[in-house]
Amino acid sequence: MSKLFAIFGNPIEHSKSPLMHNLAFSTFDVNSCYTRYLLKDGDALRSKFFELGLSGANITVPHKESAFRACDWCDDFSKSAGSVNTIILKEGKLHGYNTDALGFFASMKAFHEINKILFLGAGGTAKSTSTLLKDVGFDVVVLNRGKEKLESFKNSGFKTYTFETIDDFNFDLIINMTSAGLSDDNLPAPKKLLLQLFQNTKGCIDVIYGKETPFLQLAKKYKIETIDGSTMLLKQGVLAFDHFTDHQFDLYKVEQAMKRAFDFG
Ligand code: NDP
Repeated sequence: MSKLFAIFGNPIEHSKSPLMHNLAFSTFDVNSCYTRYLLKDGDALRSKFFELGLSGANITVPHKESAFRACDWCDDFSKSAGSVNTIILKEGKLHGYNTDALGFFASMKAFHEINKILFLGAGGTAKSTSTLLKDVGFDVVVLNRGKEKLESFKNSGFKTYTFETIDDFNFDLIINMTSAGLSDDNLPAPKKLLLQLFQNTKGCIDVIYGKETPFLQLAKKYKIETIDGSTMLLKQGVLAFDHFTDHQFDLYKVEQAMKRAFDFG
């Protein structure tokens, strides 16, 4: 029987995940299809999953923390991060995983001699990636516009700042983990503050993909090495596909199949 998968998010029209997964399904002759669903209310995720008759799903901005709460079971890593981006239906129960963090970690290999990292943003993606980076020994500091989302980071032992309280401007790597620039032209932090941070940094990453965000444009203007979120997207997609297809396929071949999605611009 054919299986249906989907990505939930808001906004969702920018997502390359349907193309990536459908290319991989057709490459391996898997009788499955992957679509997108604009979900406005994260609390409706669980009921929508069952209503659509899905076998699995990915979850993107801003519902990764709601996805964590929607699951019946989560693996240890997504539990420690409190953030889920991949759900599989197993015997009527929703099983949650997080493939963002490993995907992001793989993309960071473009930079060398990195120790101290500043995260701009404290949402679901920042939660999982910062948890992994801290676990493997990086010094991660989190800066967010609002105070509220910083609480759980503080409780997990991260140093945190708001735009008003930051007093450290020395970071090897600065990462935009906010949704600023995704469907608007906003910078993730005040320009004056970013310019101060850019003076001492080796590189900048924006996890947004498919466009050059104002954050990356500004970093490039100051001759800072940059990458966008394409590699992270590809790597997290490969790991999600591995869950969807019960670990049947060679991950290198999955990556080659999914990579073709980037030829479509
Ligand atoms: P969430 O909605 O959970 O969190 C959004 C964060 O962005 C919050 O910290 C919020 O701050 C901050 N924010 C939003 N707008 C602004 C703004 N104008 N200025 C400053 N801060 C802002 O989103 P996610 O964590 O799920 O996703 C974050 C980004 O990561 C998205 O752009 C998403 O597309 C991208 N992403 C990319 C992936 C890839 O594979 N490349 C995978 C997953 C995500 P506040 O608390 O103050 O509201």
